[in-house]
Amino acid sequence: MTQITLQNTQTRQKEVLEPIKSGEVSMYVCGPTVYDRAHLGNARPVIIFDTLFRLLRHVYGEDKVTYVRNFTDVDDKINARAAQTGQSIREITDGTIGLYLDDMDAVGAMHPTHMPRATEYIQPMVDMSADLIEKGFAYEAKGHVLFAVESYADYGKFSGRSIDDMIAGSRVEVAPYKRNPMDFVLWKPSDADTPGWDSPWGKGRPGWHIECSAMAHELLGESFDIHGGGNDLMFPHHENEIAQSKCVGHEFANIWIHNEMLQVEGKKMSKSLGNFFTVRDLLDQGVPGEVIRFVMLSTHYRKPMDWTETKRAEAERTLRGWHAKIEGVTAADAPNADVIEALADDLNTHKAIQALHDIARNGDPAVLKRSAQLLGLLSDEMDDWVAPSFGGGLDHEKIMDVESWLRSARNAAKLSGDFSEVDRLRSDARDAGLEVQMGKDTVELKPTSAFDADRLHSIKRGEA
Ligand SMILES: [Zn+2]
Repeated sequence: MTQITLQNTQTRQKEVLEPIKSGEVSMYVCGPTVYDRAHLGNARPVIIFDTLFRLLRHVYGEDKVTYVRNFTDVDDKINARAAQTGQSIREITDGTIGLYLDDMDAVGAMHPTHMPRATEYIQPMVDMSADLIEKGFAYEAKGHVLFAVESYADYGKFSGRSIDDMIAGSRVEVAPYKRNPMDFVLWKPSDADTPGWDSPWGKGRPGWHIECSAMAHELLGESFDIHGGGNDLMFPHHENEIAQSKCVGHEFANIWIHNEMLQVEGKKMSKSLGNFFTVRDLLDQGVPGEVIRFVMLSTHYRKPMDWTETKRAEAERTLRGWHAKIEGVTAADAPNADVIEALADDLNTHKAIQALHDIARNGDPAVLKRSAQLLGLLSDEMDDWVAPSFGGGLDHEKIMDVESWLRSARNAAKLSGDFSEVDRLRSDARDAGLEVQMGKDTVELKPTSAFDADRLHSIKRGEA
């Protein structure tokens, strides 16, 4: 069996994945708070953990991997959106979940095994909070239940901070009912305008962190193999998940994986810089989901990912070339070994894509197709964009004509030493948005995103 190594944030070491339950893998990834469309940065962890999910399924078997990704559907941002728009909370959360799944489907992300909604797991959150009070790690104050960070000696260890650093470096909510400003909310009271559930502490709602601890426990048990998320969640969210779960006596996650953040053209994506866009914005501009996925995977998950127009154009060209190569080809039974090896080495998607380039150049198209599918690329569901985006103007016959004219012009030029006709045809083809690849005995023209059907049709064979 392929050995998978992963960089464990908790131990700061690359570790061999050794599943708790032999032959089966369990993974939890923090999901979105559902009040708005996913921005491009939100798609990065989804694509990364989807690729890990695919690798795990390949290595352990499709029915041996349990992947949980939650929806946070109780949150003050959702309440604010409801008040602002006049929609009900349920309309907002149901609607946003639908849009989110549409967008993630478009970038080729498989649905996780379980997608629990926080509001369906309120009782386990109440139970866990009560258990923490009983064990002396939490306390009730003015209708709130707070986790007492000083009761857990390892608090801060995961993210590598001391309590003093955390107080100094973060905007903690100072409230008179907190014993320590770092104490965080497990439960808080709700008024008539905010959603609430009955609890031993009155009508209220859970804090954010307790959701993941409770849902991971319900769906994966007291311990599981992998916990993932963006590195912006390390503190306080993951630090708090660990504190809660460990203090009720759960082992919780063995390996923690964090992805780096996304930038746009070298800058942090933000509304104030005007470079903020959603996945849907890109799709609406005609950027195929497969291209978004390719660009995301071309950078290793532990490096900052820079979304650039240049990368988008290159990815589109590459994928068009690959799709042309695999047209009508049935995928091979097994992916290429170099691709598997790269992915098994801390999910090195950058290296895996380099291996795919090698196969595309020199290898079997059937193996290219099967290997790319391990990264969620070149799937039969994702190839729709390749032809239609040429607006129906992609004339394969004419492209083949121009290829053959170029071949014979070159043969003639080899004898005469006059390459002007070769140069003219090549330049006309480029003007029509075709990439010209001339091998020793071959000529290949590939449509790029700049393809222009009118210009293609105006190309004429010169006088021989
Ligand atoms: Zn979480």
